[in-house]
Amino acid sequence: MSSLNNEASPVFQHFSHEHPLELTNFEGAGTAVCSACNLQIIAGKDYYACRACPFFLHRLCFNMPELVQHPADPGHDLNVLLTPCFHCRACGHQGTGFSYHCHLCQVQYHSLCLLMPLVKRSHYHDHELHLKFSPPYSDSQGFRCDLCRSTGSNHWLYRCDACEFDLHLSCSSAASAPNPPHQPLAVTASNGNPHVLDGGHSV
Ligand SMILES: [Zn+2]
Ligand SMILES: [Zn+2]
Ligand SMILES: [Zn+2]
Ligand SMILES: [Zn+2]
Ligand SMILES: [Zn+2]
Ligand SMILES: [Zn+2]
Repeated sequence: MSSLNNEASPVFQHFSHEHPLELTNFEGAGTAVCSACNLQIIAGKDYYACRACPFFLHRLCFNMPELVQHPADPGHDLNVLLTPCFHCRACGHQGTGFSYHCHLCQVQYHSLCLLMPLVKRSHYHDHELHLKFSPPYSDSQGFRCDLCRSTGSNHWLYRCDACEFDLHLSCSSAASAPNPPHQPLAVTASNGNPHVLDGGHSV
């Protein structure tokens, strides 16, 4: 169902963009990337596209709530912003696109980092790994990733406490076993209801 030539197709407004968007699954998007998360648009899956300029959003990203709360920053609202460049407090990498920003703490997060499950399994370790929001070592030396062997500083990590097994967020994704379909997510929309985010992403 390609609706690009259909004058009657409904249009959608999104707070991050000045032009109306339309929902499409047009397969000619080529190498278009999502303006929110910078991952490629997957041809044949529904996504939002601007008719006036090269602006695309995954359906998941279109539906990201404007305000969320996260146990990494208890009691503070995180606001979504469209940012040309930011430093993600969770993974330590630069980001562009949507970030969730705490004005009180002056920190920013990738939207996808906030969606990391609180508990996950990895091929590289027999036990469940738990998401930690800072390294558990008192010397503030950060941690050493047991997969890639490089250090992480004051960032989030996945950890098995019993074995002192630590992984970068990104390394945990590379090594992740298939997670159960309803893994517990940390993020909640600010109305207090768990925000259900299903499908759309191939990360
Ligand atoms: Zn996206
Ligand atoms: Zn536009
Ligand atoms: Zn990040
Ligand atoms: Zn905060
Ligand atoms: Zn690593
Ligand atoms: Zn363990």
